Amino acid sequence: MPDCNVTVIGAGPYGLSAAAYLQAAGIQTRIFGEPMAFWEKRMPAGMFLRSNWGASHIADPHRKLTLDAYRLSTANHMSAPIPVERFVDYGRWYQRRVAPNVEKRNVTRVNADTCGFKVALADGEVFTSRRVIVATGIGAFSWRPAEFDEVPQALASHSSEHRDLGRFKGRRVIVVGGGQSALESAALLHERGAAVEVIVRQTELNWVGLHSWVHHLGLISSLLYSTRDVGPAGISRLVSMPRLFRVLPRKVQDKTAYRAIRPAGSAWLRPRLTEVPITFGRKVVSATATGSQLRLALDDGTDRLVDHALLATGFRVDTSRYEFLPEQLQTKLRTVNGYPILTRGLESSIPGLHFLGKPAAWSLGR
Ligand SMILES: Cc1cc2nc3c(=O)[nH]c(=O)nc-3n(C[C@H](O)[C@H](O)[C@H](O)COP(=O)(O)OP(=O)(O)OC[C@H]3O[C@@H](n4cnc5c(N)ncnc54)[C@H](O)[C@@H]3O)c2cc1C
Repeated sequence: MPDCNVTVIGAGPYGLSAAAYLQAAGIQTRIFGEPMAFWEKRMPAGMFLRSNWGASHIADPHRKLTLDAYRLSTANHMSAPIPVERFVDYGRWYQRRVAPNVEKRNVTRVNADTCGFKVALADGEVFTSRRVIVATGIGAFSWRPAEFDEVPQALASHSSEHRDLGRFKGRRVIVVGGGQSALESAALLHERGAAVEVIVRQTELNWVGLHSWVHHLGLISSLLYSTRDVGPAGISRLVSMPRLFRVLPRKVQDKTAYRAIRPAGSAWLRPRLTEVPITFGRKVVSATATGSQLRLALDDGTDRLVDHALLATGFRVDTSRYEFLPEQLQTKLRTVNGYPILTRGLESSIPGLHFLGKPAAWSLGR
C-alpha cells in the first residue's frame, strides 16, 4: 500500500482547486507548495488581473468559494479589474478552507515505484503515492529570446523576475513584448519614474474589452460570449465548451486557441500608456553589454543604449524543464511541442501522473 493516495505538487489556484475536489471526493491527499507564491512574488506590485471576474474564480465543487463569496466575507469592496494583491488574499482565503494543512515544502524528485510513485522532499522525507498531480504553474517556463543569451541578468531580466518595478526609477528601460505583461509593466515603470520604451514585433497592439457595450445586449451577448469572457464574439463561447472544442480538427483548435488568448492588452491600460513611446513592427536582433549599460540593435538598423531590458516575452511549456521529473520518467512522457499529451482526468502517458494548468492546455484531457 502506498503511504498516500494522491500527492498534489503546487498550491496555486490549480493545485488548491484539485485539493478541494479530492477532499470533496473523500480521497486522502497531501498538497505541497507555497500558497499563491507565484502571484505574490513573481508579478509586479500594483498589477491588475487581465482575466475578468467570471474567469477568475478558483473552482470548487460546491461553488461556495467563489470571488463573490470571498468579497462577501471581507469588508472591503472589490471589483474587476482585480488587484493582484486581492487575488493573492482570495487564494489564501480559499486555501485556509480547503487545504489548511498545505505543506510548504519543496518536492525535489518523483520516481516510479511499484505502488505508483516515490516522492522526495527537499528536507529529506521520502514517501510513496498512488498518484501525483503536477500543478506547479508556469514559473519554470519563462522564455528569454536567444539574442539575450550572453547578457547578464542584471541588464536583461524576464518580467516574471520582478515584484517591485520601482527599483528602475530614474533609469532607462526597454520593454520587449506586446502582450498584457509588457504593456502593464511599461505603464507601471512609467508611473514609477523610469524612462520606458516598448519594442513590439506586431505592427499594432491588440486590445481586449474596448467595446464593453457588446456585453450588455442581453440574449445576443450571452449567445456570443461566455461568462468567462475569454476571446472575441463566438470564440468566447466555443472555448468555454471543452468537450466540443477538443473534437475540432487540431488546426482549428490551435488557431482558435491562439485567437482567444493572443498577446493583447486590457483596454483599461490604454490611458496609462499615452506617454509611453511604443516602437511597432521591430525586433531586437542583438543585445550587447557595454559596461553598466546594454546596447540593443533593432532590425531597422537603429539602436538603443539603455540601463535595462525587461523581457515580457512570455512562457513556453516544456516538460523537460521539470527538475523533479528524472530522465527515467521524462523518456516515458509523451509530449507535443513541450506539452504533455493528456487523456481522461488530465492523466499523462505515465499512468497516475497528471498535469493541471497551462501544461494541460494542448490536449485538455479526453
Ligand atoms: C504577469 C502575469 C499576469 C497574469 N494574469 C493572469 C490573469 O489575470 N488571470 C489568469 O487566469 N492568469 C493569469 N496569469 C497566468 C497565471 O499566473 C498562471 O496561469 C497561474 O499562476 C496558474 O496557476 P497554477 O496553480 O497553475 O500555478 P501557480 O499559481 O504558479 O502555483 C504554482 C505552485 O507550485 C508550487 N511549486 C512549484 N514547484 C514546486 C515544487 N518543486 N515543490 C512544491 N511546490 C512547488 C509553488 O510554490 C506554487 O504554490 C498571469 C501570469 C503572469 C505572469
